[in-house]
Amino acid sequence: MPALHDGPRSVQGIGPKKAAIFERIGIHTLQDALELYPRDYDDRTHISPISALRDGERACVRAVVGSTPTLHRIRKGMELTKFTIFDDSGTVNVTYFNNRYQAALLREGEEYLFCGAVRGWGRGRQLLSPDFEKKPSGETGGIVPIYPLTAGLTQRDLMRLTQAALDAVPGAYPEFLPGGLLAEYDLPPLEDALISIHRPSTMAEVSAARRRMIFEELFLLCCGLQRRKDKRKESVGLVFGNVDLSAFWAALPFPPTGAQARAVSELSADCTDGHPMSRLVQGDVGSGKTAVAAALCVLAAQNGFQAALMAPTEILAAQHYESLGPLFASLGFSCTLLTGSMGAADKRAAHAAISSGETHIIIGTHALIQKDVEFANLGAAVVDEQHRFGVNQRAALRQKGQLPHVLIMSATPIPRTLALIMYGDLDVSVLDELPPGRQPVATYAVGEKMRPRIYKFMEKQILDGGQVYVVCPLVEEGEQPLKSAEQHTETLRQVLPHRRIGLLHGKMKQAEKDAVMSDFSAGKIDILVATTVIEVGVNVPNANLMVVEDGDRFGLSQLHQLRGRVGRGRRQSYCIFFGKDKGEKARTRLATLCGTNDGFAIARADLAQRGPGDFFGQRQHGLPVLHIANIASDLALMQSAREEAERLLSADPLLSAYPALRDRVNRMFR
Ligand code: ADP
Ligand code: MG
Repeated sequence: MPALHDGPRSVQGIGPKKAAIFERIGIHTLQDALELYPRDYDDRTHISPISALRDGERACVRAVVGSTPTLHRIRKGMELTKFTIFDDSGTVNVTYFNNRYQAALLREGEEYLFCGAVRGWGRGRQLLSPDFEKKPSGETGGIVPIYPLTAGLTQRDLMRLTQAALDAVPGAYPEFLPGGLLAEYDLPPLEDALISIHRPSTMAEVSAARRRMIFEELFLLCCGLQRRKDKRKESVGLVFGNVDLSAFWAALPFPPTGAQARAVSELSADCTDGHPMSRLVQGDVGSGKTAVAAALCVLAAQNGFQAALMAPTEILAAQHYESLGPLFASLGFSCTLLTGSMGAADKRAAHAAISSGETHIIIGTHALIQKDVEFANLGAAVVDEQHRFGVNQRAALRQKGQLPHVLIMSATPIPRTLALIMYGDLDVSVLDELPPGRQPVATYAVGEKMRPRIYKFMEKQILDGGQVYVVCPLVEEGEQPLKSAEQHTETLRQVLPHRRIGLLHGKMKQAEKDAVMSDFSAGKIDILVATTVIEVGVNVPNANLMVVEDGDRFGLSQLHQLRGRVGRGRRQSYCIFFGKDKGEKARTRLATLCGTNDGFAIARADLAQRGPGDFFGQRQHGLPVLHIANIASDLALMQSAREEAERLLSADPLLSAYPALRDRVNRMFR
């Protein structure tokens, strides 16, 4: 009999071809097959009388074959086998398509259990290609697992493999969850749960087993992440002895919000405890994350280290450089900008200043993580708008120093529990407070009919001294002609000829982009027509109206980010989304935005609508694959799993008393 560590080939009926497919989907051993959870179940425990069969349902009947199966050729390559079956309540026709061998196994006059789909009414009613089996009376067809299929594999293959795996379990696969947890959360023990999930006898059993498997998976995940975090805390980090930020606070043009002050004191503590910091700052758009990042840069500089701030776009990097450069200078620290589009000579000069240590704080784009950039002594690294970077890029910045303190900033607020999982081994600070005086952005979704009125509204805002963004989606090649940013600019120039209208899109040269952005910032442009290059971080407080064209083409969180470009000053701000007339989905999505300015609520709705894979983007988090738990919908269990993992590991950091658990954690993170 094959053992748990044997490969699929050890199972009778699985040859090299199928084994190769199993390998490809990550099933290298029978143990892996235990985590191939059914995606659904066919409940054949309920037997219906034939008279009760309804069109469209799946049903099981216990019936006698009433006529000899006969073959009908309809046309070439298409044959039907037909016969009737009956029970006490009535008769129904059975049809198989191109499967005469199946029907040939049946004997007229004998009773079987048939399970299949019902189609049609009255005399035309049929049971289509039903599964059948001979069962003593009183027995039902049970509950049949339905496994997720991959091309080249059949349910029968999956049944074979999982059966062999289940057969190998007794005595070979000890319980690895601490007994206390099973009792506390009322979870079935491992062997029972495995049988219940793969070969259940009731649906209630399935749900208990699923709950255990979900808990188990989340618990293993949390244990692994907690161990990573503990390891980081074992490594020796830079100690920033001087955490007196009073000069910094005095130089900042505003007093910090309570949340900013809290985040800064959290990160100051991280930088003095002797271990490298890895902290996530989560805050809605406009919550003032930049000031928190600046505090860390100053902290590094005043302790004799360099700091780097990496932003996802050149516009954003330039903006940070313009607003923070003078602030840093006033504290006696020099600041350098480094972006990809800088001229070769400027770049060379920047590289030299960075590697000599002559410059203290470096602000830039992906250019910062290029091979030829060497830091003299990088002590702190900040990643702004982290969702725009992959795990590798974040790691690359970290590797520019010797275990520098790392701060990453996210404007997509998600529930704290979820953040702790998604961002794995990071500590989390939440900016849950906006700077004072912010008014919520009044948001409206409109259809094309409203266009003339919207143009008038733009004019009015400009007359009152405000400025306007018009955001257009990117036009992808080969697409139907959506109105592009250029076309919108043309239209606006005709409708509002006396207004100064600027255009900003990703294909422009950096110098052109900078010029347009700084004109807009300085109030020399009334209306800025832009693609989503302005989505991240751009800060022009005087702009108080945003009009989004084709709002239906953006995701919820993205629309919220866009809207975050207004409502930054004292003026009442507005956001208007076109696209209300583009169908039901667009309407609901836009209604969510019009209903709230709360980024947490919007992120939750977005997560629910799109699912976690899409929401986070797979490449971002670099977490192990989950087979059964859903991090969005299993939040409550996740909370418990995390607390329990923390508790267990603080008592037994190496899991020495739990070798089986440790093996499972290592297996998940291998
Ligand atoms: P985000 O969290 O979206 O990155 P920013 O750091 O860009 O937000 O800040 C948004 C705006 O709020 C900026 O104009 C900034 O100067 C201002 N701001 C930040 N903190 C405060 C504060 N404590 N008081 C007043 N204004 C603030
Ligand atoms: Mg920002």
